[in-house]
Amino acid sequence: MTQVATKPTVFCDFDGTITAVETFAGMMKTFAPQLCAELLPQLYEKKITLREGVRQILESIPSSQYEAAIAFGDDKPIRPGLPELIDFLDHHNIPFHVVSGGLKGMVERVLQRENLLQRVASVTAIEVDPRQDKIIVPPQRFEGDTELVAKVKVIQHHTDGETIAIGDSLTDVNMAFYVDRIFARDRLVKYLETENKPYLPWNDFRDIHHTLQQQWDT
Ligand SMILES: [Mg+2]
Repeated sequence: MTQVATKPTVFCDFDGTITAVETFAGMMKTFAPQLCAELLPQLYEKKITLREGVRQILESIPSSQYEAAIAFGDDKPIRPGLPELIDFLDHHNIPFHVVSGGLKGMVERVLQRENLLQRVASVTAIEVDPRQDKIIVPPQRFEGDTELVAKVKVIQHHTDGETIAIGDSLTDVNMAFYVDRIFARDRLVKYLETENKPYLPWNDFRDIHHTLQQQWDT
């Protein structure tokens, strides 16, 4: 085994990346259908910010539905190869952080179900207060100008070394431009191609494992 020269840190999105479907958007569409029909298209076209749109949608959901909302991910599958990728990263002493623009309660619940919650270095996602009539989204620790969870701020908090990120959509665009290497799939590919930003394509975690293995184990 060749030692990795400078130890990178890996940052991974959750919705549509760890989960095989868009769990968070799906939850919002289920629990706030009208507002989502109005705001989600504007979000994807970048006419309103994620920060405004997501906060508005979440704060329209009654707190009595919070438990059901975070249970939305319970029957959603995760993409193959994640435990093996984390094993591989562990072997190289490389931390794997989960950074999500979704609900922290849902992210942790899915990772727990897969016995992966204890294996990730950290989980950063939206923290809400469900004790009032409606869900409240207080100021977030890593809130940015346009995002409730500014992934670049999270990355900067954890490392100033080499960075690798894994993502699939709009919430990953800013970190894609910040990190040293970005694994991109789905909608994120389109955003990056529009901007002529190079990326590593992936479909499931076995592809990422394979790419890193080729680089580090030979
Ligand atoms: Mg995503």
